[in-house]
Amino acid sequence: MTVCYKCKVDKSETDFYPSCLRNGDYMCKPCKNKAAREWSNSHPDKRREIGKNYQRRYRVTHKEWLNTHARAQNRDLKLKVLALVGGKWVREGCGITDFRMLQINHINGGGSSE
Ligand SMILES: [Zn+2]
Repeated sequence: MTVCYKCKVDKSETDFYPSCLRNGDYMCKPCKNKAAREWSNSHPDKRREIGKNYQRRYRVTHKEWLNTHARAQNRDLKLKVLALVGGKWVREGCGITDFRMLQINHINGGGSSE
């Protein structure tokens, strides 16, 4: 059992983050979360900057996965749209069976007025 130095309650070790126990920081999870929330609310600019830096690093370290995921999402969306137009590109089409070659356009080029 360990006493939280913030709320002074005697708690089991599962009520503390392992990294806190390793570092001798005996603040329980609820107190730690509350303190982090308060710091975040009182330092919005620093919090935003930390978030931006994290996202930048994440995009660099997970670039391959993010690209693969985006390609899969785009492919699924294109297949859904092609299914909505009735699969004409397969039945009446031009002989192309690779959906990646196909584009979706307005028949008369009227844009949003069609
Ligand atoms: Zn506590």
